[in-house]
Amino acid sequence: MGRVLLITGGSRGIGAATARLAARRGYDVCANFAGNQEAADGVVADCIAAGVRAAAVQADMSQPAEVLRLFEVVDRKFGRIDAFFNNAGIYAPAARFVDIPLDRLQRMIATNTVGPFVAAQAAARRMSTRSGGQGGVIVNMSSMAARMGAPGEAVDYGFSKGAIETLTIGLAKELAPEGIRVNAVKPGLIYTDIHAVGGTPDRVDRLSHLVPMQRGGTAEEVAEAVLWLMSDAASYVTGVSLDIAGGRGI
Ligand code: NAP
Repeated sequence: MGRVLLITGGSRGIGAATARLAARRGYDVCANFAGNQEAADGVVADCIAAGVRAAAVQADMSQPAEVLRLFEVVDRKFGRIDAFFNNAGIYAPAARFVDIPLDRLQRMIATNTVGPFVAAQAAARRMSTRSGGQGGVIVNMSSMAARMGAPGEAVDYGFSKGAIETLTIGLAKELAPEGIRVNAVKPGLIYTDIHAVGGTPDRVDRLSHLVPMQRGGTAEEVAEAVLWLMSDAASYVTGVSLDIAGGRGI
């Protein structure tokens, strides 16, 4: 039986690319999604075609009760969890700092910060050798915005991801003696739907001249890094946040 990987936001973009690559590497995959059942079903079909067990589970990661329900479904369907990609997140249309409304800030923090915190707790409770688990690996989804701040565009987004950086450091240290490695990935400009949802579908191409490598990245390039961090090849790596940004922001 393969290792079981849960991915939040596994229906599209970086999460979907990671699900497909993980299945090809032999992981059983649970792909969470918010609303796009069709995309999630497509990911699951591709994983099953790769010869592993896979399921799509709807749950809104901005709602703590839904986060807990997701993990209970994973318990029932897969019986264990070995790897967790804490990936789901949202962006927002460009806005000046002083114009960001409170309800947008609260939605951003609920989805990108509180949900991932609660989800990491649920994963750690199951993985920890202290509570009878087998150990495991967590990869948190940060962003280069955590370092660069997203000025003039989405300071609330950068703020929400900054907390993920700190969470990763705290968890890596606290959970290392319990058999759990915790790392983060910090992508730069990656071609996914998130930019269109934020109102700027051409954002990656528009800003790619700012990238030393002069191009945006692909979801598959991020997925490779996530799966390396989850693999035994990274067995002595914990507490790092890996830039995947073509040299931007260093
Ligand atoms: P995407 O293509 O827009 O995909 C977002 C995924 O998250 C979808 O599977 C979506 O599900 C899911 N999702 C959104 N809100 C959710 C919620 N409340 N509950 C559960 N699932 C939810 O975005 P992406 O670019 O792959 O982004 C994935 C992560 O990478 C995010 O955390 C983002 O901040 C981060 N990131 C992206 C970039 C970039 O340039 N693309 C750069 C740095 C960091 P549905 O399909 O059901 O809507």
